[in-house]
Amino acid sequence: MNEHDLIVIGGGEAGISASLRGTQLGAKVCMLNREPELGGGCVQTGTLPSKILSNAAHFLEDLKKGKRYGVPVVEGARADFGKILDSRHKTTLCELGVLATLIRKNSIETLTGTASFKGPRTLEVRLPDGTVRELAAPRTIIATGSRPIALPGIPFDRRSILSPDDLTALDAVPGRLLIVGAGVIGCEMAFIFRSLGSEVVVVEKAERALLGQDHDVAALITREFKKRGIRLLVRTGLERVETTDEGSVRALLTGGEEFESDRIMVSVGRRPNTEALNLAAAGIPAGPRGEIQVSECMQTSVPGIYAAGDVLARFMLSSMAVVEARIAAENAMGQDVKMDYTCAPWGIYTDPEVGSVGLTEEWARTGGGEIVIGQCGYNDLVRSCLDANVTGFFKLIFDGGTRRLVGAHVAGQDASEIIHFAALAVKLGARVEDIRDMVYNHPTVSEGFGKAAADALKKFEQRTPAENK
Ligand SMILES: Cc1cc2nc3c(=O)[nH]c(=O)nc-3n(C[C@H](O)[C@H](O)[C@H](O)COP(=O)(O)OP(=O)(O)OC[C@H]3O[C@@H](n4cnc5c(N)ncnc54)[C@H](O)[C@@H]3O)c2cc1C
Repeated sequence: MNEHDLIVIGGGEAGISASLRGTQLGAKVCMLNREPELGGGCVQTGTLPSKILSNAAHFLEDLKKGKRYGVPVVEGARADFGKILDSRHKTTLCELGVLATLIRKNSIETLTGTASFKGPRTLEVRLPDGTVRELAAPRTIIATGSRPIALPGIPFDRRSILSPDDLTALDAVPGRLLIVGAGVIGCEMAFIFRSLGSEVVVVEKAERALLGQDHDVAALITREFKKRGIRLLVRTGLERVETTDEGSVRALLTGGEEFESDRIMVSVGRRPNTEALNLAAAGIPAGPRGEIQVSECMQTSVPGIYAAGDVLARFMLSSMAVVEARIAAENAMGQDVKMDYTCAPWGIYTDPEVGSVGLTEEWARTGGGEIVIGQCGYNDLVRSCLDANVTGFFKLIFDGGTRRLVGAHVAGQDASEIIHFAALAVKLGARVEDIRDMVYNHPTVSEGFGKAAADALKKFEQRTPAENK
């Protein structure tokens, strides 16, 4: 007989979200996690630790603005890395406390161990003491997350060669930092460590940073790199690494250039954690990167088995993991709900930060349909001038036929917060007039949406009647 209605494998954001929703819907849930500590990448290694560092970096940058009001600015002010680590530790403990309370209040059973399938309804769990326990349930949600990919022949050692998950292994700000990969995390790390005092060089194999993001966003971030003295080398990879007698590392780049650095951070993508799961025993095929494929309802090809979060290798964000997991749990418990990514925003915590939703200009043009773009610079906004935050832009992409918002990209102050307005506009099918005609508080950064929509409306008006049909 089954002891549980639902087994959730993984105790990160996705696993916790699935377990909570499962119990709310009346299921007796058991959540399995490989480590005794819950929270996964979000709490332990990724989102939270990186945001503590980026808060410290932003604070240092903001300090420089005091000059305008005659507040003395200490040139070359540095943060105490030990205090940053203390703050990270306290925040993690606080978040773990919140999670523990939620889990206790919702009577979710938790078990520490590594799970693998024996069959589609049976799991084996290897416990920390080496013993094996068998569990069975009619429904399972896989939420085993992901881990960073190392470059061939250059393994992570948590000392000289770090992954973005190794932030917790750092005990000081490296004097010189080489970052491999100018994706979202690589770029975030570059700004953070530059503000904290590192000399930063970023190498990227592709022809530009932030490949996959809107090209205007990538161009702005590249300009900001330059302003801050972050060196970006595109079409460049890391070939080999040697350790020097002084304890630093010598990096040999494609093209022959050599760099000496104190630490190298390799941020070239993540791989889903599926090897230990023995997916074949459940009849679930894995994709080329080990990822699990699911339907819009988050169900795998095997009825009753669902998956959510990084293990899908889709967006690999906590924000998406939480919603995917909720949808998986609701469907597992008999509902019929679908995941909709079209209005899901994402944030990039660079400086300035970025908030995006929907189509990039490149994607929208690939679709073949006409688009109309409205723009507004942060330097056109009173709020941004008041705050001395004039770097950045609003870019709204409208469908030329329906006049509906299909994509929005904001780079600048508060972008990751205010993008939710655009996300709702995309979800509700807002037209260019709807966004222009809103009343916006003044002075606010959000006024940029109204101004960018007004710019788009002007372009709609300049089109011929046939083009506007
Ligand atoms: C530096 C960095 C910064 C980030 N910043 C952001 C951000 O600002 N915003 C954002 O939304 N996202 C961010 N992310 C991404 C975010 O951390 C992940 O998307 C999120 O943690 C994924 O959650 P998950 O539950 O799918 O997987 P995980 O958090 O990886 O959790 C999976 C859990 O499953 C366990 N597990 C694995 N295999 C087994 C098994 N066989 N049996 C039992 N347990 C198992 C693991 O030990 C782990 O505890 C960042 C990531 C990094 C690295």
